[in-house]
Amino acid sequence: PSPLLEVRDLSKTFTIRRGFPVAKTSLVRALDRVSFTVARGEALGVVGESGCGKSTTARVALRLTDADGGTVRFDGQDVLAASAGAMRRLRRRMQIVFQDPASSLDPRQRIGEALGEPLRVHGLARGSELTERVAALLAEVGLPANAAARFPHEFSGGQRQRIGIARALALGPDLIFADEPVSALDVSVQAQILRLLEALRQARNLAFVFISHDLGVVRHFCQRVTVMYLGRVVESGPVGQLFEEPLHPYTQLLKASSPVPDPERPVAMSFQEGEPPSPLKPPAGCHFHPRCPRAFDRCRAEAPALREAAPGRAVACHLYGGA
Ligand code: SF4
Ligand code: MG
Repeated sequence: PSPLLEVRDLSKTFTIRRGFPVAKTSLVRALDRVSFTVARGEALGVVGESGCGKSTTARVALRLTDADGGTVRFDGQDVLAASAGAMRRLRRRMQIVFQDPASSLDPRQRIGEALGEPLRVHGLARGSELTERVAALLAEVGLPANAAARFPHEFSGGQRQRIGIARALALGPDLIFADEPVSALDVSVQAQILRLLEALRQARNLAFVFISHDLGVVRHFCQRVTVMYLGRVVESGPVGQLFEEPLHPYTQLLKASSPVPDPERPVAMSFQEGEPPSPLKPPAGCHFHPRCPRAFDRCRAEAPALREAAPGRAVACHLYGGA
């Protein structure tokens, strides 16, 4: 079957100005031919450090930001070329949940209004039916019916994320981009939200692009994973295989430095020494070469292409085949 979402060679360059008193413009290659697919009902994890292009991928795929090149197909439709009307229909089927749900909630708007708004705007419900749909959404995300009459500040972070999820569900989407949805929450609350997302995935056959810097979270929620490094996909594959036997040296390092999910034990050592990579000045060749324990001459000169390493697995590294 064809994938629900197919992202091919997506590229995006930002121009930024910085420096004082003389500002210089720099080009940031935020996305460099990013490709991945998501099947119906599947959770794909997109993993990497901050600045690797994870959030930009979601924004470009949803057309909240323009792409420079590449294609996004959703259920066979060309998203980047869609007309305004077609895009409005597509938006019902593709939603986004942010890290900080408060940022997407109006502090002066009651929760019932916030949840009812998309239904009203799209002409899907009004009056008592709208009230019932809102109550059903609240119940689905585990909030009491009286939440509808309250304001965002009356809720905890975890409850606000439930509201953000309910709002994303209102229009009955097939796919949700979840951008670090649990990163701001306590570990115990994280687990509750992840259980909710998993229940929704199964009950609604909902697909997710689950964006996270936290490999541990991805491991428990996703079926497949795409690893990004400075705007490029460096590895992708089924979650079990990727963790059992990571191919790319960066994925190996991510795995080795992933925090131990046990509060009694200290967090495992983080990466190799050195500054986190800057998307402003990506190293030539393989972007990862300055941090790679296995780098050799070719790595400094030539960017490795993403190629199939085994059925369903792909890696971009000169260690694996290729002429
Ligand atoms: Fe390391 Fe070279 Fe592979 Fe890049 S291409 S990950 S530098 S071995
Ligand atoms: Mg981000």
